[in-house]
Amino acid sequence: MLIPTIPIGIRAFMPSSLVQSHAAEQFSAEQTTTEQPVTFEQPALQRVSRQLEKAPAKEIVRWALDAYASQICVGTSFTDTVLVHLVTSVDPDVEVLFLDTGFHFSETLQTMKAAQARYRLNLNVVRPPSDAPDLWSAGSEACCAARKVDGLRHAMADNGYQAWFSGLRRADSEQRSKTPIVGTDSRGVVKVNPLANWSDQDVADYVAANDLVVNPLLAQGYSSVGCWPCTEAHDDGGRGGRWAGTAKTECGLHLD
Ligand code: SF4
Repeated sequence: MLIPTIPIGIRAFMPSSLVQSHAAEQFSAEQTTTEQPVTFEQPALQRVSRQLEKAPAKEIVRWALDAYASQICVGTSFTDTVLVHLVTSVDPDVEVLFLDTGFHFSETLQTMKAAQARYRLNLNVVRPPSDAPDLWSAGSEACCAARKVDGLRHAMADNGYQAWFSGLRRADSEQRSKTPIVGTDSRGVVKVNPLANWSDQDVADYVAANDLVVNPLLAQGYSSVGCWPCTEAHDDGGRGGRWAGTAKTECGLHLD
């Protein structure tokens, strides 16, 4: 399977081992001398992911920003601002997407405003159409599809994004335990997960070291924060409070 094209600048900031790896992908001379995008096959992407496995998160961010230039954005739920801070500390202009489902806690919207003011974010708040189905009328799958998945898909298509940064961590849940550093989802979109191998302690340390804005709900027993109708306080360090009591564990943004 071919994934979307990646700008050619991909090699400029790569460790020499990765440059060698890409050389093995046999880019043509024509492809490597201009800003023409090149096609990057899935095995090469998997190889890059493995080679970035032990790289510091900021190095992963630099790789992705160089690879995708203006064709990458950041997705955030504003549970905390670790990913946003990490990426914007490298590129302050990168667009930050927030999917405002219409059902967020007021604390989450406060966190968004505080982060925007503090970090001067290039923030794009994506809202669903006024007639989008909700979970009471259509069920949670349709609600998440309309208010999250479609919003991301449209925002990425409208802006020509080929990739996005996600804050997925393997420590989040069993379903996320095999999260790659770089991967693609079922839609063929490239997802870069610089925090994939961070522990809860790594997150706490980064928040403390940088005095980051965090969602006040974290101090009220919520270890993961989503929409208020679908999130309960659940201080397990994971996602146990999301869609609690149901079989649902993901909204659809991260299903591969
Ligand atoms: S998490 Fe709940 S309220 Fe939010 S979009 Fe999904 S179903 Fe709707």
